[in-house]
Amino acid sequence: MIVDLSACTFLDSTVISMLVWAHYLITSHKGRFALVLPDGSAHTARVIHAMRLQEILPVCASLAEGVIFVEHATRVRDLRVRVDEAQAYGAACECGWTGEPRTGEFAERKARADGNRHSEAPPAL
Ligand SMILES: [Zn+2]
Repeated sequence: MIVDLSACTFLDSTVISMLVWAHYLITSHKGRFALVLPDGSAHTARVIHAMRLQEILPVCASLAEGVIFVEHATRVRDLRVRVDEAQAYGAACECGWTGEPRTGEFAERKARADGNRHSEAPPAL
């Protein structure tokens, strides 16, 4: 779920409690939640930061960034079948994308970089 506050000019406690509750409900069901808060929205940003909500709710600067955050949750998987095998890691995303298997020194770090490159790609809107 993405809540776009671009056009929002006023936030009160009712809206804030709804945002926190929606975030809790969605993430407790393994969903992804993002708040879109462009730099220009002064009052809204001031309220969000004064209440330190950015520490609880993922805040994105644009709708495109929010879509990427919600749609592309990458993680690094250990591809070894047995623990005594050589290191092998691969990045995977909830959208179905998988990175190529990385082996050898810094395999996990390389797989994480693959995942970061994938999740930073522009969304297909
Ligand atoms: Zn993805």
